[in-house]
Amino acid sequence: MVDYAVVGRCGVFCGSCMIYRASKDSDQLREQIAKRQKCKAEDVRCDGCQTVLESGWDVQKQWGKNCRIIKCLEVKGLKFCFECEIFPNCKNFQTIYKPYLKADENLIENLERIKAGEVKEWLAEEEKKWICRECGNPISDYEKCHWCGAKLRTK
Ligand SMILES: [Zn+2]
Repeated sequence: MVDYAVVGRCGVFCGSCMIYRASKDSDQLREQIAKRQKCKAEDVRCDGCQTVLESGWDVQKQWGKNCRIIKCLEVKGLKFCFECEIFPNCKNFQTIYKPYLKADENLIENLERIKAGEVKEWLAEEEKKWICRECGNPISDYEKCHWCGAKLRTK
Protein backbone atom coordinates (compact mmCIF):
# COMPACT_ATOMS: atom_id res chain seq x y z
CA MET A 1 0.00 0.00 0.00
CA VAL A 2 1.21 3.47 -0.83
CA ASP A 3 1.52 5.74 2.16
CA TYR A 4 0.79 9.16 0.70
CA ALA A 5 1.25 10.74 4.14
CA VAL A 6 5.02 10.61 3.60
CA VAL A 7 5.09 12.59 0.35
CA GLY A 8 7.06 15.60 1.56
CA ARG A 9 5.87 19.04 0.56
CA CYS A 10 9.47 20.14 -0.15
CA GLY A 11 10.32 16.95 -2.08
CA VAL A 12 11.80 15.14 0.91
CA PHE A 13 10.61 11.58 1.38
CA CYS A 14 9.21 11.99 4.92
CA GLY A 15 10.62 8.56 5.80
CA SER A 16 14.06 10.16 5.46
CA CYS A 17 13.22 13.29 7.45
CA MET A 18 14.94 13.19 10.82
CA ILE A 19 11.89 14.64 12.59
CA TYR A 20 9.73 11.84 11.25
CA ARG A 21 12.30 9.13 11.97
CA ALA A 22 13.01 10.44 15.47
CA SER A 23 9.33 10.53 16.26
CA LYS A 24 8.80 6.98 15.00
CA ASP A 25 11.98 5.26 16.14
CA SER A 26 14.24 7.00 18.61
CA ASP A 27 13.82 8.95 21.84
CA GLN A 28 17.55 9.56 21.78
CA LEU A 29 17.37 11.25 18.37
CA ARG A 30 14.37 13.26 19.59
CA GLU A 31 16.44 14.56 22.50
CA GLN A 32 19.30 15.52 20.18
CA ILE A 33 17.02 17.38 17.80
CA ALA A 34 15.21 19.10 20.66
CA LYS A 35 18.52 20.37 22.01
CA ARG A 36 19.57 21.63 18.59
CA GLN A 37 16.21 23.25 17.85
CA LYS A 38 15.68 24.52 21.39
CA CYS A 39 12.30 22.85 21.79
CA LYS A 40 10.87 20.07 23.92
CA ALA A 41 11.60 16.46 22.96
CA GLU A 42 7.87 15.71 22.91
CA ASP A 43 7.42 18.41 20.26
CA VAL A 44 9.62 16.42 17.89
CA ARG A 45 6.85 14.39 16.31
CA CYS A 46 5.30 14.15 12.89
CA ASP A 47 3.24 11.61 10.96
CA GLY A 48 4.31 12.92 7.56
CA CYS A 49 3.87 16.09 5.60
CA GLN A 50 0.50 15.31 4.12
CA THR A 51 -1.06 14.83 7.56
CA VAL A 52 0.01 18.28 8.64
CA LEU A 53 -2.56 21.07 8.82
CA GLU A 54 -5.47 18.83 7.96
CA SER A 55 -8.33 18.68 10.43
CA GLY A 56 -7.40 17.21 13.78
CA TRP A 57 -3.74 18.04 13.50
CA ASP A 58 -2.66 20.31 16.32
CA VAL A 59 -0.11 22.73 14.97
CA GLN A 60 0.73 23.98 18.45
CA LYS A 61 1.67 20.53 19.68
CA GLN A 62 3.34 18.99 16.66
CA TRP A 63 6.32 19.75 14.50
CA GLY A 64 4.52 21.97 11.98
CA LYS A 65 5.09 25.01 14.14
CA ASN A 66 8.83 24.44 13.78
CA CYS A 67 8.99 23.29 10.17
CA ARG A 68 10.03 26.20 7.97
CA ILE A 69 8.46 24.60 4.91
CA ILE A 70 5.07 23.94 6.49
CA LYS A 71 4.93 27.43 7.95
CA CYS A 72 5.82 29.01 4.63
CA LEU A 73 3.37 26.94 2.55
CA GLU A 74 0.57 27.50 5.04
CA VAL A 75 0.85 31.28 4.71
CA LYS A 76 0.86 31.01 0.91
CA GLY A 77 -1.95 28.45 0.80
CA LEU A 78 0.13 25.98 -1.21
CA LYS A 79 0.55 22.24 -0.93
CA PHE A 80 3.99 21.76 -2.48
CA CYS A 81 7.07 23.94 -2.94
CA PHE A 82 6.93 23.57 -6.74
CA GLU A 83 3.65 25.51 -6.75
CA CYS A 84 5.43 28.61 -5.51
CA GLU A 85 6.49 31.37 -7.91
CA ILE A 86 9.93 31.80 -6.35
CA PHE A 87 10.75 28.07 -6.34
CA PRO A 88 13.51 26.92 -6.25
CA ASN A 89 15.25 30.19 -5.44
CA CYS A 90 13.90 30.33 -1.93
CA LYS A 91 15.90 30.47 1.28
CA ASN A 92 13.62 28.03 3.10
CA PHE A 93 13.80 25.49 0.31
CA GLN A 94 17.54 25.88 -0.28
CA THR A 95 18.27 25.29 3.43
CA ILE A 96 16.87 21.79 3.03
CA TYR A 97 17.77 21.23 -0.62
CA LYS A 98 21.55 21.70 -0.16
CA PRO A 99 22.18 19.21 2.67
CA TYR A 100 20.01 16.62 0.93
CA LEU A 101 22.06 17.03 -2.26
CA LYS A 102 25.12 15.98 -0.25
CA ALA A 103 23.26 12.82 0.68
CA ASP A 104 22.73 12.23 -3.06
CA GLU A 105 19.07 13.23 -2.91
CA ASN A 106 17.82 15.88 -5.35
CA LEU A 107 14.63 17.46 -4.04
CA ILE A 108 13.97 19.36 -7.27
CA GLU A 109 13.96 16.08 -9.19
CA ASN A 110 11.75 14.54 -6.51
CA LEU A 111 9.23 17.37 -6.80
CA GLU A 112 9.22 16.99 -10.59
CA ARG A 113 8.29 13.35 -10.18
CA ILE A 114 5.55 14.16 -7.66
CA LYS A 115 4.24 16.81 -10.05
CA ALA A 116 4.31 14.29 -12.91
CA GLY A 117 2.17 11.87 -10.89
CA GLU A 118 4.92 9.27 -10.34
CA VAL A 119 4.32 9.22 -6.60
CA LYS A 120 3.87 5.49 -6.22
CA GLU A 121 7.08 4.59 -8.06
CA TRP A 122 9.00 7.35 -6.36
CA LEU A 123 7.94 6.29 -2.86
CA ALA A 124 8.94 2.68 -3.55
CA GLU A 125 12.42 3.80 -4.64
CA GLU A 126 12.84 6.11 -1.66
CA GLU A 127 11.89 3.40 0.81
CA LYS A 128 14.67 1.21 -0.55
CA LYS A 129 17.17 4.04 -0.68
CA TRP A 130 16.86 5.28 2.91
CA ILE A 131 17.94 2.05 4.56
CA CYS A 132 21.09 1.74 6.66
CA ARG A 133 23.71 -0.25 4.74
CA GLU A 134 24.95 -1.73 8.02
CA CYS A 135 21.83 -2.75 9.92
CA GLY A 136 19.04 -2.54 7.33
CA ASN A 137 16.79 -0.23 9.34
CA PRO A 138 15.15 2.94 7.98
CA ILE A 139 17.35 6.02 8.35
CA SER A 140 17.14 9.78 7.94
CA ASP A 141 19.48 12.44 6.61
CA TYR A 142 20.94 12.70 10.12
CA GLU A 143 24.74 12.29 10.10
CA LYS A 144 24.55 8.71 11.37
CA CYS A 145 22.16 5.80 11.65
CA HIS A 146 20.03 6.20 14.79
CA TRP A 147 19.89 2.41 15.16
CA CYS A 148 23.50 1.26 14.86
CA GLY A 149 25.53 4.46 14.58
CA ALA A 150 26.87 3.82 11.06
CA LYS A 151 27.80 7.04 9.29
CA LEU A 152 25.50 8.37 6.58
CA ARG A 153 27.03 8.04 3.12
CA THR A 154 27.59 11.53 1.73
CA LYS A 155 29.12 12.91 -1.44
ZN1 LIG B 1 22.25 1.19 11.01
